[in-house]
Amino acid sequence: MKIGIVGTGMVGSASAYAMALMGVGTQIVLVDHNSALARAQAQDIAHATPFATTVAVRAGEYADLDGAAVVIIAAGVSQKPGESRLALLERNVEVFKAVIGGVMQAAPDAILLIATNPLDVMTFAAQRIAGLPPERVIGSGTILDTARLRSLLGDHLGIAPNSVHAYVLGEHGDSEVCVWSSAMAGSVPIVSFAKQIGRPLDEAARSSIAEQVRGAAYTIIEGKGATWYGIGAGLARIVSSITDDERTVLSVSQVTDEIEGVRDIALSLPRIIGREGIVATLMPDLDADERAALKRSAGVISDYTSKLKF
Ligand code: ADP
Repeated sequence: MKIGIVGTGMVGSASAYAMALMGVGTQIVLVDHNSALARAQAQDIAHATPFATTVAVRAGEYADLDGAAVVIIAAGVSQKPGESRLALLERNVEVFKAVIGGVMQAAPDAILLIATNPLDVMTFAAQRIAGLPPERVIGSGTILDTARLRSLLGDHLGIAPNSVHAYVLGEHGDSEVCVWSSAMAGSVPIVSFAKQIGRPLDEAARSSIAEQVRGAAYTIIEGKGATWYGIGAGLARIVSSITDDERTVLSVSQVTDEIEGVRDIALSLPRIIGREGIVATLMPDLDADERAALKRSAGVISDYTSKLKF
């Protein structure tokens, strides 16, 4: 199965590397308007595969995305000195118009997987530009925030992160919402499990964990300028759920008609992912505070989305 990636900077190439080592798909095609970069990344990653899998990795043009099952879009421009967030967003929308036009011509049946920030707004823009059904345009959303939350909770409770069932919802950004009320350790509500084992998840512990989840990207950016490995692996995980028709529940972004009274935005909720894209959404039970926080988060996304005039 062919997987395309447009935009082969740090995030695009990290996702290719993760897929090559994990054995996701059979063929990965890298496209970038800097074709020398795409070629170099493809060669470098291809040289790693003999140690791991038989995935073929090569650079190409849009036409080479023909027949791709999934195309990751990680193309974007970075902020110029003094540039406003809105001006940057408008430039990234222009990039998306060019990129998505090229992808849709070559691979009209592909599922689009969006990785460019601001993630939820770009997922909305991508869906509107592509004109695809919302379930075929997936934003990586809070997949990584959720992984960070599970890992911190696993450490706190002394259990494996994959036995923690908890989600970060809403914006992939500062207004994201950690959902505690329906979080589980195995099949036990997480707060009562924490109490049972003498490692309580009181208000202070919860807000410290939520703060670490929210601040993780900032800490990494302080040390190395940007983040790419975590999101690269997260993108590979989403693609494998599509290619293997796994129907795994992952917190990803999708254009949503209405959430907590806020209309026409993309945001993350736990969603079932399979061969056709997002198969269904699982709306968790939220308490009053969580609902209010999700409404605020949706409002933050809406403020930016509405400026785009789609
Ligand atoms: P990130 O850290 O998010 O990966 P980068 O700046 O490293 O950001 O990567 C973004 C990539 O997107 C760059 O390789 C850039 O060349 C590519 N890109 C930007 N605009 C376009 C475009 N119009 N078409 C294809 N690729 C693009």
